[in-house]
Amino acid sequence: MTRAFNFNAGPAAIPLEVLKQAQEQFVDYKGAGMSIMEMSHRSALYEQVNNESQALLRELFGIPDNYHVLLLQGGASTQFAMLPLNLLRPGKPGAYVMTGAWAEKALKEAKLVGETVIAASTEADKFMRMPTMSEIEVPNHASYLHLTSNETIGGTQFNEFPDTGDIPLIADMSSDILSRPIDVSKFGVIYAGAQKNLGPSGVTVVIIRDDLVKESPKTIPAMFRYETHAKSSSLYNTPPSFSVYMVNLVLQWIKDKGGVAQLEQYNRDKTKFIYDAIDQSSGFYLGCAQPQSRSNMNITFRIHSEELEKLFIKESEKEGFVGLKGHRDVGGLRASTYNAVPLESCQALTQFMIDFQKRNG
Ligand SMILES: *Cc1c(COP(=O)(O)O)cnc(C)c1O
Repeated sequence: MTRAFNFNAGPAAIPLEVLKQAQEQFVDYKGAGMSIMEMSHRSALYEQVNNESQALLRELFGIPDNYHVLLLQGGASTQFAMLPLNLLRPGKPGAYVMTGAWAEKALKEAKLVGETVIAASTEADKFMRMPTMSEIEVPNHASYLHLTSNETIGGTQFNEFPDTGDIPLIADMSSDILSRPIDVSKFGVIYAGAQKNLGPSGVTVVIIRDDLVKESPKTIPAMFRYETHAKSSSLYNTPPSFSVYMVNLVLQWIKDKGGVAQLEQYNRDKTKFIYDAIDQSSGFYLGCAQPQSRSNMNITFRIHSEELEKLFIKESEKEGFVGLKGHRDVGGLRASTYNAVPLESCQALTQFMIDFQKRNG
């Protein structure tokens, strides 16, 4: 069996150990005579998967007791709308930190629901950095402050978060959840699609403080109210059971690896190889993100000629590398190095980059 060096941005790499375990249990889950996909979501076996996934998220991410952990559908893109539907109040704008394509999509949806304001923007720097804490201005009557902890396309990441006092801080952590320890108590809501750091697509994790759940207006349809899902432990309707099961296995894997703090160090070690290859290339490779905002999840870089970038992708594919083409909106090259991407893949990419430069520099 050959496994690709998978640097896909999302859906992305899943630990091989997890895939093998799922394969073993695929046809007959724990002696039930059927796969997890074939059984009722009200069965004891599935309830265990549902409960365990939530409990593991709490344990690994240090989620306090006054927060709910919801496992929803519709991706982070649905949260762009669900969040303002539940939390945006008349006369109290939703404040948004503009850091790239994902923040823009979140803002666009909120505008359909109510009043918004831009709390900070790094567009003048082509979104190649995150704002500093002092650049973020939140009106004191804001409903909330929304930010994107890691911009998957630009390759930038916050390394600290603003203190918003009584105003709920909301974070889209789709591309860096569980990649590093976070003080969850600073946030009102954290949400993330699973397909980057948590497993396959199909399930979205929402971590929401209890008092905010209670604010869900009764005027919005049941499926769009946080309260509905919080009250039913995310079993209001049929859940994406196979995705939740896979997330459960990935969470077990993170626990076996030693937890989130261990993974943070592992991720730093992984990305250092690649960033060093960029920085020591005498300008052959150009890092896109400003150094203080560099992401440990998505490394964006360029080569001075587009021809060479095309050649880089072509030759890398021949050698088993996948997913190194930059996002279609920005071009260039991108290596996504989520939790499940092994150190060996990053070392192999570093060596390929050095060799490619020798041949073409
Ligand atoms: C991938 C991504 C999304 C979109 O997620 P979907 O699950 O496809 O809706 C949103 N925000 C960020 C930061 C992402 O990386």
